[in-house]
Amino acid sequence: MPRDAPVILVVEDEETLAESITYNMELEGYRVQRAATGTDAMAEFHRSVPDLILLDVMLPGLSGLDVCRRIRSLSDVPIIMLTARSSEGDVVAGLELGADDYVTKPFSMRELVSRVRARLRSRVALEEPDDPVLRAGPVALDPERHEVRVDGEEVVFRPKEFELLEVLLRNKGRLVTREALLDQVWGSPFYGDPKTLNVHVKRVRKKIGDAGKPRRMLLTVRGLGYKFVDD
Ligand code: CA
Repeated sequence: MPRDAPVILVVEDEETLAESITYNMELEGYRVQRAATGTDAMAEFHRSVPDLILLDVMLPGLSGLDVCRRIRSLSDVPIIMLTARSSEGDVVAGLELGADDYVTKPFSMRELVSRVRARLRSRVALEEPDDPVLRAGPVALDPERHEVRVDGEEVVFRPKEFELLEVLLRNKGRLVTREALLDQVWGSPFYGDPKTLNVHVKRVRKKIGDAGKPRRMLLTVRGLGYKFVDD
């Protein structure tokens, strides 16, 4: 599976169904992460930063609706709910909580795959216009030329600093957890000193001239991770 293939988080406690969804998503070229409870879903969400979530509403423990609410408070990742035919109330509640779409069980895999494709496509269209340069405030990062400019002036970045900034800019406005950053920039599993991340964040802030005034661009979300904001 290519490393940049979209990641689908499948939250489903029915093992056979979860297997079948996984198989079909992988056939489509997506990478799949799984969770069988609401609590696992939150942990996996923080760990793998998925591009789309398939979320069963009826889960043991923390319900699918609770998971939906929590994830929406952190991220605008597309969420497609998997609901039972008899639970129209869940559908309404889920959509009100910010889910993007739903399918009713039993659904065909073809139906599910086409919904997933449509969601990912509209997301790509929104986020990735032809220009590959990632911009935020005075910062412009060109992944193809491996170049960072701040107020139009080129600034030299070391490879890890560059990757760190790239991941944050690609997720502009969204929380990126420490785990996800360590995973994506330093590789998984990460055995080094987690302080490495703090050190690199400090260097990146310095290089982009983020002195915290009048306000920070690269925010620390205490206890969780970092977020790059643009205004
Ligand atoms: Ca279920």
